[in-house]
Amino acid sequence: MRHEFAGHGASRGSALGRARVRLPHALEVTEEHIPAAAVEDEVQRLHAAIDVVRTEMRDLRQRLHGALAHEVGEFVDLHALLLDDPELLQGLDDLIRTGLYAADYALRLQRDRIAGVFSSMDDAYLRSRIDDIDQVIGRIHAALHRRSADLQGVAGEILVTDSVAPAELAQLQAQGVMAVVTSAGSALSHSAILARSLHLPLVVGAATALQRINDGDVLVVDGGSGLVVLEPNAADLRAHHQRLREHKRERRQLNRLRREPTRTTDGVDIKLWANAESREDVAEAHALGAAGVGLYRTEFLFLQRNELPDEDEQFRTYRDVVLGMTGRTVTIRTLDVGADKADRTGLALTDEPNPALGLRGVRLSLTRADVFDTQLRAIVRASGYGPVRVLVPMVSTREEILAVRKRLTRVSDELRAQGHEVAAQIPLGAMIEVPAAAIGLSSFIGSIDFLSIGTNDLVQYLLAADRNNEALGELYTPLHPAVLRLLSTIIATANRRGKSVAVCGEMAGDPLFAPLLLALGLNEFSLHPGTLLELRRAIRDCDLAQLRARAPALLRARSRAAIEAWMHAQL
Ligand code: PEP
Ligand code: MG
Repeated sequence: MRHEFAGHGASRGSALGRARVRLPHALEVTEEHIPAAAVEDEVQRLHAAIDVVRTEMRDLRQRLHGALAHEVGEFVDLHALLLDDPELLQGLDDLIRTGLYAADYALRLQRDRIAGVFSSMDDAYLRSRIDDIDQVIGRIHAALHRRSADLQGVAGEILVTDSVAPAELAQLQAQGVMAVVTSAGSALSHSAILARSLHLPLVVGAATALQRINDGDVLVVDGGSGLVVLEPNAADLRAHHQRLREHKRERRQLNRLRREPTRTTDGVDIKLWANAESREDVAEAHALGAAGVGLYRTEFLFLQRNELPDEDEQFRTYRDVVLGMTGRTVTIRTLDVGADKADRTGLALTDEPNPALGLRGVRLSLTRADVFDTQLRAIVRASGYGPVRVLVPMVSTREEILAVRKRLTRVSDELRAQGHEVAAQIPLGAMIEVPAAAIGLSSFIGSIDFLSIGTNDLVQYLLAADRNNEALGELYTPLHPAVLRLLSTIIATANRRGKSVAVCGEMAGDPLFAPLLLALGLNEFSLHPGTLLELRRAIRDCDLAQLRARAPALLRARSRAAIEAWMHAQL
């Protein structure tokens, strides 16, 4: 019999398939006590299970590559942190020791206790964090019973479950699962964020789905509206096919742009660079006609491992990116560990009171000459295989740039003397992401060849709003009059001095911001290849002269609402 479930659309897309139901196994446990003599064994059994999960998370982390390592990795790290949370662990031990509960039941009690705290929170995002606790506790429970907590998906199926972990989503998609429906969860959860970037349809909060849907039932899932239909009728199927056609039409239109120039309606070519971290990104960037790689974040070679990569390993990695871009320029950013990019090699300090304002980026490189020279040597050797630029993160003073320039020149001379093929020119650029570098740009722009604006950090430092602190909500936004004025000044200074300037923060990849950045004078964007075609389409709809004429009105905006009204008027 046809039945509708109204959930919340968390990731767009339409799917038709047979259901695969995963019942919540984690905490279907009844109250169970243990004799006092068995307490220590039980505590040990629990800790052995936690160790198993720790290893699982570590293995999973190592299996993630490229963009996935970046996006899923954050969630896996968060879960790994929860596993080590002293309150969670102590609470569990206490329940076993003083309550004489079996480990399974202790997990259940502890979960309910934490859920009680979360459910009383006002903030919807924080409330949704209980999903993370559930996923971690579910894994420990599975490990207690020596079964894998990972889902096995089957190509063409739609998974129906209580909640889904971000790392599972990536696996499910690789296995060909069409969509996911969860009875709990929130559109603000990490899983939802990830599903959107994976383009995997997801409906959350379909409360009674688990009770009514059985393995093999046919479902239609609309990740846009949140509607899930069990045993769809002819009209449902028609609506699904219609959505698919629309989606396909959109993809086809976008794909036609692969070989088209990124040209505004008044005939100005805009340069689209790619942000790349993996081989896949590089191949995609090349196929989509990116001008080159505008930001290669080398720190991903340094994270998730205990030993520093040596010169040869780095050289091979950089060389392969250069070869993959077949003559288009590759911008290699020197190491930017520290703050939110914590490494395990012992390089970044771990006891800084305020790591975002600490020894990160170029500051760290300049204090670790051995590590920095190794990296520069690898980059310079890669320049023998195609055009390379060096980009320096977290620059705040002219002296930093001069020090890097000196090292780069010395390393290049040494390598040449040793018989290596080294490019005659390796342009040196600075990330503009510290307000001091932005405001004081004219004092050192003569010492650099190009610049790249890192809006992710520039916004955080300018607004004193942590880029990863969800509690700040809308405070962290590029749509602040101060941010726009600063961007306008940086771009104008660079244009006046004839230096190439791109924006390489996430802002550059969002088609909504394209008219705004064009109005401010930007001619180069660097973004993840995933949205490159969407951005190209948006730019091809823009009249550059008209937008630039409207820049003064944009810069007069006194609030986010006024900036949004300006953006709206351009659509
Ligand atoms: C930025 O800060 O905008 C940037 C591109 O660098 P990252 O996100 O790697 O800090
Ligand atoms: Mg940055």
